[in-house]
Amino acid sequence: NDHTIAFIGLGNMGGPMAANLAGAGLAVQAFDLDPAACARVAEHGARIAESARAAAEGADVVISMLPASRHVEGLFLGSGGEPGLLAGLAAGTLVIDCSTIAPASAQKLAQAGRAGGIAVLDAPVSGGTAGAAAGTLTFMIGGDAADLARAEPLLRHMGRNLFHAGGAGAGQAAKLCNNMLLGILMIGTGEALSLGEALGLDPAVLSGIMQKSSGANWVLEKYNPVPGVMEGVPASRGYSGGFGTDLMLKDLGLAAEAAIASRTPVLLGGLAGSLYAAHSRAGQGGLDFSSIIGLLRPRGA
Ligand code: NAD
Repeated sequence: NDHTIAFIGLGNMGGPMAANLAGAGLAVQAFDLDPAACARVAEHGARIAESARAAAEGADVVISMLPASRHVEGLFLGSGGEPGLLAGLAAGTLVIDCSTIAPASAQKLAQAGRAGGIAVLDAPVSGGTAGAAAGTLTFMIGGDAADLARAEPLLRHMGRNLFHAGGAGAGQAAKLCNNMLLGILMIGTGEALSLGEALGLDPAVLSGIMQKSSGANWVLEKYNPVPGVMEGVPASRGYSGGFGTDLMLKDLGLAAEAAIASRTPVLLGGLAGSLYAAHSRAGQGGLDFSSIIGLLRPRGA
C-alpha cells in the first residue's frame, strides 16, 4: 500500500472509484475540472490537487476516468500547444486509463508511453455507478501481462472481475462489444415492458416474470428503466446520475466506427445508435440512458 495514486476525472464513475482507493488507505491525489466532484471525493480522504499536473506530482500510478477519447488524449498527449501529462511523468510510472475510448486512441497512448518508459493499460469498466460504489466493477484490460500484474492489487480495490483481453486497445475493443449489446438490451427490454403496460400488465410483475424466464438480462436484474420498479436505480431518481445517454451514444459511435473499419454488419447496434441520437436531440442527452424507454412507453418515462 505504499503507492501514491493520481486520480483524474471524479464524475459518476471516477468519484466512487477514487473514494474506494482512498477508503482503503491508499494515498490518492485527485483532480477534476468540476470543484463539486472534487469536494465529494475529499470527504473520503483523497487529497485534492489544483491541476492534473499537480495531482501527478510524486505519483507512481496515474488513473484516469474521463468522458471520451479527446479528453484522454488531451490530458496525456496535450492539446492546443499545451504539453500532456505523459511528457512529465517519471519512467516506470504506471498509467491506467479506465475511460471508454477508441481502441486506436488507447494504442496511441500506449505507444507514446512506451517511448518514455511509461507503462500504459487500457482498463475500461462495466458495472455502472452502483458497481463503482460497491467496488464490484468488471475491468477489461488491454496491455502487457506484467503491467497488469502491477495494477491488479489496485484494481482489486475497485473491482471484482479482472479480464486480460489482450494487447493495447483490446480492453477497449471488449468494452465496445459489451456496450453495443447493453445499448440494444436496454431498448429491447424497454420495448417489452412498454408492450406489457399497453396490455395492462404491471411493469413490476412483468419484470419479475421475465427475470425468471428466457428474457432475463442485466437490465431487468440491475437497472430496470421503469420508474418505481427498482430502488436505487436512475429510473427511480428522475434518471439522474448513472450512465448518460450521450455517453452511450459515444460508445455506439465507437462500435459503429469499428464495425465499418472491420467490415462487420451491426444492424441492431446501428439502429440503437440512431434511437439514442434521437433521444439526445430531443434534449435528453444528459439523462441516464435508461430514459430511452420514454420514446417507447405508452405514457412516456
Ligand atoms: P461523468 O461525465 O460523470 O464524469 C466525467 C468527469 O470528467 C467529469 O466530472 C468532468 O468534469 C471530468 N473531466 C472532463 N475533462 C477533464 C479534464 N481534462 N481534467 C479533469 N477532469 C475532467 O462520466 P462517467 O459516467 O463518470 O464516465 C466516465 C467514463 O466511464 C466514460 O468514458 C464512460 O463512457 C465510462 N463508463 C461509464 C459508466 C457509467 O455507468 N456512468 C459505466 C462504465 C463506463
